[in-house]
Amino acid sequence: MTLSSFACDPDRTRGRRHAESAAPTRTEYQRDRDRIVHSTAFRRLVYKTQVFLNHEGDLFRTRLTHSLEVAQLGRSIARSLGLNEDLVEAVALAHDLGHTPFGHAGQEALNECMQGHGGFEHNLQSLRVVDQLEERYPQFDGLNLTFETREGILKHCSRANAQALETVEPGGVGRRFLDRSQPSLEAQLCNLADEIAYNAHDIDDGVRSGLITLEQLQAVPLFGDLCRQTLQEHAHLAGATQGRRLLYEVIRRMLSAQVYDVIDATRSELEKAAPASADAARQQPPLVRFSEDMLQKSVVLKKFLLQNLYRHHQVMQTTGQARQVIRELFEAYKIAPQEMQAGFVARTQAARGIAEETTVVFRVVADYIAGMTDRFASREHERLTGRRLLP
Ligand code: MG
Repeated sequence: MTLSSFACDPDRTRGRRHAESAAPTRTEYQRDRDRIVHSTAFRRLVYKTQVFLNHEGDLFRTRLTHSLEVAQLGRSIARSLGLNEDLVEAVALAHDLGHTPFGHAGQEALNECMQGHGGFEHNLQSLRVVDQLEERYPQFDGLNLTFETREGILKHCSRANAQALETVEPGGVGRRFLDRSQPSLEAQLCNLADEIAYNAHDIDDGVRSGLITLEQLQAVPLFGDLCRQTLQEHAHLAGATQGRRLLYEVIRRMLSAQVYDVIDATRSELEKAAPASADAARQQPPLVRFSEDMLQKSVVLKKFLLQNLYRHHQVMQTTGQARQVIRELFEAYKIAPQEMQAGFVARTQAARGIAEETTVVFRVVADYIAGMTDRFASREHERLTGRRLLP
């Protein structure tokens, strides 16, 4: 596959923060991907919640399987559009590294704990993981990834945090949130592949869990239309025992429809805008996109999942307990930082007596909790409080 003129070219990367010599057999983005796959944070994704808590069942998506699905969808689309597949893969595999245990509930709880001390944003945390928290190299902290991979990982960022990034790294990954330019097309693609992946797999997990039904989904156009089309072609799937097979076929069609839609809509945007280079594409409005029609359908589906799955009372009940686990862990480490692992304890000790000591200690505690898997967080909570909130 030849790269388009607007794709990111690893030979013209803006480089790494710490200079390294080129690898003999791999491009810079392949090297980034490999570093991500070998990281500790990546291995932990297998025990982190997507929507359902990790202990609720073995077949539900975790952050790891979600990230693999995003990488697969992203690479397929990248190949069709002449974008850099390796960069898409690296960003996709790293995009959720900063997620806390217990999914969004965990993140919201941690953000509340950090109010007044910089807050907690999972995209920024993913960047902290690859820039600072991984400890694997003798010469530097983090994984020392290329600018383009880091740019893609930092999907959102508040203005205040972008300003802080700009201060330590002028013209770096925070800049685009201040001058309102776009990230690379590969990064834009990862965002959309993320959406396509969770829209589909949350339906699958939601139906398997029994919290949403095929009947309810008939009213959601993106699902209902394709379900009726499938049944016209395969009438035997209407039987009660064939529900699973019907579900998979509809989800397969949903994925294909969205992938082809992105390819077509983006291709026509690229033809109109005709960016001469990857940098020229960053100065345009977002070019990787759904068609208007698919965008509407995707919005309806997201609303449906929010109302019927993410806010289902059964999900809310466990996420309420998860929030409490995070809050109580935070309180416990705040009072007794020595209960954390040695490296984190050392960071709190190094800040002793300085003016921002409290803020540093809070950030260390947030880093420690954010890195936990669901089950480690539950066990630690029980060890520190003597109470078990989650099985
Ligand atoms: Mg994601």
